[in-house]
Amino acid sequence: MKIKIPLKLREMINLRDEREEVSMKVEVERCGVLIGEKRGKDVIVREVVEFENEARSPFFFEIKPETLYDAWLRAKRNGMEVVAIFHTHPTGIGKISSRDVESLKNTGIPWVIVGMDGIKAYLYDEGVKEIDVEFLGEDF
Ligand SMILES: [Zn+2]
Repeated sequence: MKIKIPLKLREMINLRDEREEVSMKVEVERCGVLIGEKRGKDVIVREVVEFENEARSPFFFEIKPETLYDAWLRAKRNGMEVVAIFHTHPTGIGKISSRDVESLKNTGIPWVIVGMDGIKAYLYDEGVKEIDVEFLGEDF
C-alpha cells in the first residue's frame, strides 16, 4: 500500500513553511482527515479536511466522533472515502507514539503523521507497519 498526496495538499498539512524552517515553536497538534479514492492497493488523496484538536495539546489530539462521522458521510456523498487520519507532531519527528498506536488499532485506516522530519504513514495490520508516502506533481 502507498499513500499518494498531491504536492499542493502536502503544503496544507506541512508543519513548517519557509519562514518557520528552523523554529521549534511549540503549538497545538493539528489534526484532520485525508479524503480520496482507492486505486488498487494504493490510495490517492484528493482533499484535506482539518479539524479542531479538542485536546488543545502539543502532545496529543482528539477528534469528536461525530466530526469524524460527518467527514465520512460527506466523502461518501462525493463518491470518495476517508482514506487516512492525519496529525502533526509540532515538537518532534513523525514517528508514531505509543499513544498513537492504541488509537491507530481502533480506526482501521492509515494514519499520516507530519513531524519535523517529514511526513510518515502507518497502518495497523497484526502490528504497526510503516507505509510509503509518495508526492504527486501538479498535474494530479
Ligand atoms: Zn502522534
